[in-house]
Order: sequence, then structure tokens, then C-alpha cells
Amino acid sequence: MSQLVQQLHRSEIGDVLENSLRGIRPNFNDCVRLLRSRDVHLMGLVADNLTKNKFGRKTSFVNNMILNYTNVCITDCKFCAFYRPPDHEESYTVSIEEIESRMKTAWEMFGITQVMFQGGHNPTLRIEYFEDAFRIIRKKFPKVGVHGLSASEIDMISKVEHTSTKEVLSRLKDSGLQSVPGAGAEILVDEVKQIISPKKISSDTWLRIMEEAHNMGLPASATMMYGHVETEKDIGEHFVKIAKLQEKTGGFMAFIPWSFEPNYTRMQKEQTVKYPAGGTQLLKMIAVSRIMYDGLISHIQSSWLTNGIAMAQIALQYGADDFGGTLLGEEVVSCTGARSTELTPAKIIQAVKQIGYEVEERDNFYNTVKMH
Ligand code: SF4
Repeated sequence: MSQLVQQLHRSEIGDVLENSLRGIRPNFNDCVRLLRSRDVHLMGLVADNLTKNKFGRKTSFVNNMILNYTNVCITDCKFCAFYRPPDHEESYTVSIEEIESRMKTAWEMFGITQVMFQGGHNPTLRIEYFEDAFRIIRKKFPKVGVHGLSASEIDMISKVEHTSTKEVLSRLKDSGLQSVPGAGAEILVDEVKQIISPKKISSDTWLRIMEEAHNMGLPASATMMYGHVETEKDIGEHFVKIAKLQEKTGGFMAFIPWSFEPNYTRMQKEQTVKYPAGGTQLLKMIAVSRIMYDGLISHIQSSWLTNGIAMAQIALQYGADDFGGTLLGEEVVSCTGARSTELTPAKIIQAVKQIGYEVEERDNFYNTVKMH
């Protein structure tokens, strides 16, 4: 520890990091200073310290499957390689029968405990489609939690139904939705959204829908997609907006910083972004996430999906405490040609044990399913 104190005294961000060791979270300006600093290793040491105080040497993961129920989308985000316009020859929507059949296979073969239900903004899907899907999943596979529909999908359903997002959330909760993923936030700054996803919901709408979900007893995760056109100030704003909502509702269980994967996206074609942000930036984002949300949002997820298993192992020593999910069936990121988009529980357990940590399998709500 004394060595750490000496390093802190020599660092340009030492005051911010010392404060976080004393339980004082960084404000917006401090956050931007962290993001502009190259002292990533020191941030990691402090973030790891905060993480170990809370979790010791333990990492969780969820045995889950991703059900990308449709790739039809009318929102045309420039960072997305997954979607197809309506009537495109490669467009699809998974039928309720097929949902049941995929669930059966995933349950019988892998014993999944969560399905993450996400797709495009498909204007032909009525709310009954989602209600039927959730009811069947909960009835036939009661041990599998439904984690589904980003704020922007919920907004889309409300437009199709000409009703409020509150009404949509309430009906979906009644039919089996249990928690809401954080997708659709990207960077919660409208100037950034105008460039990367001009047709998507605004930052305020994302925050409002999340608040409605929290108030209804639907906990959520929050995400950030970095590594495109955003500045450090934009990232700082994103962190602070989520912190403010969390102070109000306490509804976020986890924060997940994702790095943007440019392959096959319009942003790459237009040369807005040429290559992904890479490993050092991932470690910085993980460390800053822990430092920003220590004592506020419990879990920080290492994102193996876009950065690989080896980087995720290092991220677990830079502030992350959760490995994420096995992601059986993932289709969104695989459209960017990312090397591997699903893992078996055995591979995650091995990756965590390789760094000498205990492995906890968890459910939707970060409750222990079992220790491995
Ligand atoms: S990110 Fe989602 S909303 Fe945007 S184009 Fe892709 S599927 Fe549609």
C-alpha cells in the first residue's frame, strides 16, 4: 500500500485517486482528467483495490443465451452491422414456436439461467409478440430469467401501439420481463447521437425509460459504447448522467463499457472510425467505471465479447468483477466479424481460475446460482 501511496503522490491524477480510496467519487472535471491521463496502470491499481474490498478474489458470470429475435430495423444506426431494412432478403423475425424450440435446446444442452432478448426496431411487431414470448419462456422454463428489450426497443413498441412506454413496460413485466439491458445508450450526449444514430431515441428519453423501469421494479444494466466520435467530455457526461439517475432510483445493477467494433459498419465505410479502440483504452474505461461508480453501482462487467478472453482476464484486475455471459446464439457482434461470440461455462470458469479467482455463477439479479 505504501508503494501505491508514493505512486499516487507522483501522479497528475493522484488527488482524484486518493479521494476515491477515501470513498469520494470523482466529479465531472475529475472524470475528464482521468480519461485524459495516461496513468492507466495506476488507475487500475486503485480500481482493483476498490473491487477487492468489495468482492475479494471472486468473479461472477451468467450462463445465458442471446435471442436476437429480429434483425429488421428502421433506425439505421451507423455503427450497426446487424440490422436489415424491412423486405431485405436477409431479414428475419424468429417465430414464437422457434423461440420455444431454441429455449428448449439451450436449457437442455447448457442449463442456461438467463435469456437476453434483443433485436431491431421492427415496426410490424405488436406488443402481443413480446408478451407471448415472455409468457412461454417463463411458463416452460421457469428457472430462466428474462433480461430483455433495450430502452429504444421499448420506445419502438410504444410507437407501434400508440401508447406510453410506461404502459409497455407494465404489460411486459406482467408477462414475464424481469430486467432490462442497458443497450441503446451508446453515449448519452445528443450531439454524438446525431452523428452515430440520428434516428434513435434521445439521451433524455433513454434515461426516462430507465427511470420508469426502475420505478416499476425492473432493475437494469447501464452500458456505454465508446471508441467512435465521442470526446472525453462526452464520456464524462455519460458517466455523470447515469450516476445521477442511480442516486435517484438505485435501479442499475451493473455498468458495462463496450468498445465499438467498426467492421462492416457504415461508420467504417465512411471512414469515420478506422479501427477499434483497443486494449489500453478498455482497461482505462473499466478502471474509470469502477472509480466513478464505487459505492453506487455494484458490478462492472469486463467485456470479453469485443476484446477477447485474455483482455477480460486483465480487466478483472483493473476494476471489473463480472465476466458477463456465455452469450450462446449471439448475432449482433458476430456481424462485425469479431473472433468469438460465444463461450461455454467451462471456458469462462477456466479463464477465471487461470488468474486465481473464485468463480460464481449468477442469475439475472446477480444472486448466486452456484460456486464453481
Ligand atoms: S443498433 Fe439496434 S436500433 Fe440501431 S440499427 Fe442496429 S438493430 Fe437497429
